[in-house]
Amino acid sequence: MPELPEVETTVRGLRPVLERQRITLVQTRRGDLRRPFPDDLGQRLTGATVTGLSRRAKYGLIETDRGDTMIFHLGMSGRWRVDPSELLPHDHLILETATQRLALNDPRRFGSVDLLPTESLADFPAFKALGPEPLGPELTVPYLHAKLAGRIASIKLMLLDQRLVAGLGNIYVCEALFAAGISPKRAAGTVSRAKLARLVPAIREVLLAAIDAGGSSLRDYARPDGELGYFSKQFAVYGREGEPCSCGGTVERYAEGGRSTFWCPKCQK
Ligand SMILES: [Zn+2]
Repeated sequence: MPELPEVETTVRGLRPVLERQRITLVQTRRGDLRRPFPDDLGQRLTGATVTGLSRRAKYGLIETDRGDTMIFHLGMSGRWRVDPSELLPHDHLILETATQRLALNDPRRFGSVDLLPTESLADFPAFKALGPEPLGPELTVPYLHAKLAGRIASIKLMLLDQRLVAGLGNIYVCEALFAAGISPKRAAGTVSRAKLARLVPAIREVLLAAIDAGGSSLRDYARPDGELGYFSKQFAVYGREGEPCSCGGTVERYAEGGRSTFWCPKCQK
């Protein structure tokens, strides 16, 4: 599933293709993904010029000079294809500029496309309760310390709560907790300030390393063979149950809340 680094890589890859470009054609090839495409998507985007691209949590934002922002989510299997030589069965949305064609491909259709006036983005339901961005300045040790005080839920589950930090998913929570030497099972309120001071940079480092590994262009990200740019070879613990940890111990796995947690009991206390 695309996590924050994949979405950030996608936005960075789309930027040189779309920014300052006029959208000349918008075509939906079916009525919906997770939910219907907006009825007036083509009407409001055709002829508009893209003024900026950005990311909020796991959503990509494409802003136009007509005061609208298109919000896309890649769901489980979504990816943008740049200049496809031919359209594929799951290319559900096509955008064209004077020089390029883009296709949003999503075989499982858990993704979404919405269009909102840019000035009312804060009212988008998925954005309303979001906590700070993990790569932004608002995620600090004092912030986490205050939010986690007295909480008996595990630090792992708390970090997955989008109200605490926006856009962190299972893979990068496992990796950040390993990098910070914090047991995922530890009650969130008992994580020391010193450990939180390791956790905040660890979160940024694992995300930035993944973004760097994702390549600098969308052509790298969405490879011609259709494979998404996952970065599994670089994980320290995620997906490595039973394999050796760098400390000489063994990576273990347990299930909680329907998700697998990977960790090293020797390194993480
Ligand atoms: Zn270890």
